[in-house]
Amino acid sequence: MLLPLPLAGAYDYRLPDSLAVGPGDFVAVPLGGNERIGVVWGAGTDGIDDARLKDVIERLDTPPLPEVSRRFVEWVSAYTLAPPGAVLRMAMSVPAALAPPQPVQVLALADTLPELRLTPARKRVLDLLAEGPPRGAIELAREAAVGPSVVKGLLAAGALEIVELPAPALGADPQGDHHRPELTQQQAVAADDLRDKASTGGFSVSLLDGVPGSGKTEVYFEAVAEALRQGRQVVVLLPEIALTAQWLGRFQARFGASPAPWHSELPTAQRRRTWRSVIEGRTRVVIGARSSLFLPFPELGLIVVDEEHDASFKQEDGVIYNARDMAVVRARLGDIPIVLASATPSLETVTNIRSGRYGRLDLPDRHGGGEPPEVRAVDLRSEGPPSGRWLSPPLIEAMAGTFAEGGQAMLFLNRRGYAPLTLCRTCGHRLACPRCTAWLVEHRYGHARLQCHHCGFQAALPDVCPSCTKPGSFVACGPGVERLAEEVAARFPDLRLAVATSDTLTGPAAAEALVRQIEGREIDLIIGTQIIAKGYHFPLLTLVGVIDADLGLAGGDLRATEHTFQLLYQVAGRAGRGLRPGRVLLQTYMPEHPVMAALVAGERDGFLEAEAAARQAAGMPPFGRLVAVILADRQQPRVEATARDLARAVPRADGIRVLGPAVAPLAILRGWHRRRFLVKAPRAAPIQDFMRLWLAKVRIPSGARLQVDVDPYSFQ
Ligand code: ADP
Ligand code: ZN
Repeated sequence: MLLPLPLAGAYDYRLPDSLAVGPGDFVAVPLGGNERIGVVWGAGTDGIDDARLKDVIERLDTPPLPEVSRRFVEWVSAYTLAPPGAVLRMAMSVPAALAPPQPVQVLALADTLPELRLTPARKRVLDLLAEGPPRGAIELAREAAVGPSVVKGLLAAGALEIVELPAPALGADPQGDHHRPELTQQQAVAADDLRDKASTGGFSVSLLDGVPGSGKTEVYFEAVAEALRQGRQVVVLLPEIALTAQWLGRFQARFGASPAPWHSELPTAQRRRTWRSVIEGRTRVVIGARSSLFLPFPELGLIVVDEEHDASFKQEDGVIYNARDMAVVRARLGDIPIVLASATPSLETVTNIRSGRYGRLDLPDRHGGGEPPEVRAVDLRSEGPPSGRWLSPPLIEAMAGTFAEGGQAMLFLNRRGYAPLTLCRTCGHRLACPRCTAWLVEHRYGHARLQCHHCGFQAALPDVCPSCTKPGSFVACGPGVERLAEEVAARFPDLRLAVATSDTLTGPAAAEALVRQIEGREIDLIIGTQIIAKGYHFPLLTLVGVIDADLGLAGGDLRATEHTFQLLYQVAGRAGRGLRPGRVLLQTYMPEHPVMAALVAGERDGFLEAEAAARQAAGMPPFGRLVAVILADRQQPRVEATARDLARAVPRADGIRVLGPAVAPLAILRGWHRRRFLVKAPRAAPIQDFMRLWLAKVRIPSGARLQVDVDPYSFQ
């Protein structure tokens, strides 16, 4: 029995003779005075005295967790070093779905109406039901604009009766042959290959490598269509922010129905319905963020990971895992094909292609022709704006030209808020978060405030400097998108501009509204963070200006160069997606940096090769392996003591080195003091065994937190 709790492993229970269960069945069991739901994992440990075991209470009326899902839970647990129950919890994240769907109770008019005192309110309710379908009590009261007591009174008087409807049906199934697009020659070659793989099954990994706008989505839709024809289920993983109304609209047009979305912000009732219909094999296509990988598909036949290079596939808390990598594992366990799509594949994937483990399908041309955008670096040392301004003269000129031709432009700055730092002009004091090692970011939209981007702490800008008590002495340093918008508005007063960040685009509806405004030419200029960098297709957008191309290169992140290249390449890809050619200006202090040089020359593969060589020389991923260990404690002396204990316990192992403890760059987060270790090993080293051996030797105090991050992406 495995319980969805962060316990060490499976527990044994006794099965009463009256119960028949098989592996994967969901059962209720007693645990510490409570009733818990777990999954039958196997026959249990031999030789345990039956009398010492507790009885399984009951078997739930739910199809079993598929065998492949159970193997997947075990594999992810062994790899990430997270307890198996913690991984299982991701696979059964909607406990309510384990009960069979309940019929829905609605109210209808009674067959014969009793004698009634007819108030206007009562009459409205009865009229509504006479004309329309039965509906729930709350809905009925709302639509008739009456209080709930009116509805209750009518029910008590016998004028209404309760009717049970079956649980709501799912939407229509996506159809593989609903609308087949005309593919170009190039696209057809790739699509045929993927269709074959989806048709014959068997494990394979294919990278769909194509420039933005080359039709990668159209091509992998053909593989989805084939899996549907085969009667299999499909899951498409997208980075959270790329799941757009545009994408859903295209899916709908191709397949005649919507896929089932899956992410953490969906209402519970919807999550419950989707989980249940996935395990029953009724939902055919799920589109979602990384957690959709853990849905209990009994008949999964294809996985697609779109934007496979995206760092948001890495989950950073709870069970720490990379959904792209685990998706490949899930495909292998299920013996099915997986498609990774990207215009800027990760170095991990490129390396796997070189070694022959993954296949590759190229789409080198944009659909409908069109040249790639012309990219130019603006050297901020010689062509930069005056201090306190962020638009260089060449960028201003390009913007003016674009607007004069009626084109749209986008300015990219990956910084929310007004200014990333506020300091006192008199004494130099900088306003910092009281709970984190981080500066407070000033925000002016909505209600003006200072905000910590790490923990969400908020405060008003103080009247006087907390250090020198001088009033009104604060100055904003550096730009955020809000400050940039201010400069643009002063420079181009008649411009219609929109700022797109996670503060302004608070949900899919807001994003959709913005997209419609852009498509409808109601907006001339979009100022945005990475939220706008990918996935969108704006035909009239011809100019992209990157305000600070160097921003992502600072700091000690292993993938800083790679990720900066990918992000800027994606941003640049927004320009000139229609018939007019696009132009991209990168403002940088380092035009000679390999990232800028590669972007200007359009030399993606050369850049990847150089980056690969550098990583290989340093023994860094994907050529070597890393595990990060982050120790956190509210008490600084104790975090130091535990870190010393850990350092003393490091086992000896060939080729495996443990660096640290070091104070984390984010030394304090939400009041927790943080220390880091970094374990570095050759690719083939048994690093999980090493980690288990090491961590078993140290007792972590109950007030401390230890995170193990296999294949870390964050080095903060
Ligand atoms: P990518 O995913 O490679 O960026 P998309 O699949 O989003 O490319 O395609 C870019 C645009 O070109 C989309 O608007 C898409 O509808 C269109 N497109 C691509 N291929 C075709 C095709 N064969 N027929 C019609 N439109 C296509
Ligand atoms: Zn903070």
